[in-house]
Amino acid sequence: TTRPPLLLRVAHVGKAFGGVRALDDVSLTLAPGEAVGVIGPNGSGKTTLINVITGVVPADDGVVHLGSELLRHRPAFAIARLGLARTFQHAELSATTVALDAVATSAFARTPRPQRHAARTEAMGWLTRLGAGAQAGMRCGALPAGRRRLIEVARALMVRPCVLILDEPGAGLSRPERIELARRLREAQEGGVALLVVDHDIDFLAACADRLICLGRGRVVADGPIDTVRRDPLVRRAYFGR
Ligand code: ADP
Repeated sequence: TTRPPLLLRVAHVGKAFGGVRALDDVSLTLAPGEAVGVIGPNGSGKTTLINVITGVVPADDGVVHLGSELLRHRPAFAIARLGLARTFQHAELSATTVALDAVATSAFARTPRPQRHAARTEAMGWLTRLGAGAQAGMRCGALPAGRRRLIEVARALMVRPCVLILDEPGAGLSRPERIELARRLREAQEGGVALLVVDHDIDFLAACADRLICLGRGRVVADGPIDTVRRDPLVRRAYFGR
């Protein structure tokens, strides 16, 4: 149900805001179907990295490729169309919208009216696969944060991305909700989508990713298997300040 998997490649990306170097010579890859976590203290460039990859913010230097496509100078919607989806740190699910509609309408913008029934069926499929089928008929505003997050993930998966980027998906969730979300993201990954997950919670990232990238002051401080990065003294210094 997903697109052919593609390699995401960020090469020597730099971005400054005034005098602040938000990203400084950042390079990373995301292999097809791989799940990678990104950590780093506040202000280390995580959100800017996502914004550059998704075309929200133009890079000053460097390039981003998705498969053979150069993403530079493409508007965000065109990048999304190539197969790159994201969820936001503060998602805006309308409180009064029914969960199923929130997911189905993610594709409506490009779905001709006769196919909207099919979009609803597909939306129900994603909700069920994410374990949120029982909430399909409920208004988003009536759902706990963990359920709303799953609905946001279902919305993103509706466009059948080959890469899904998640900005702090665990924020504001309880520990059991985070554990469930990590498990559901793993299942989505097993379905073929590659994940790039930005979060503060290293245990959450360990549960949903295979590899960890640590940013510090706009640079990649470490990139490797979770446990290796976790023990890296540079990471401990960048991330924990000691
Ligand atoms: P993180 O997501 O890791 O907290 P950000 O990418 O949000 O880090 O920010 C990295 C640095 O860039 C910070 O110093 C931040 O203040 C600065 N920054 C980010 N976006 C902007 C902007 N639009 N204008 C000015 N400075 C910005």
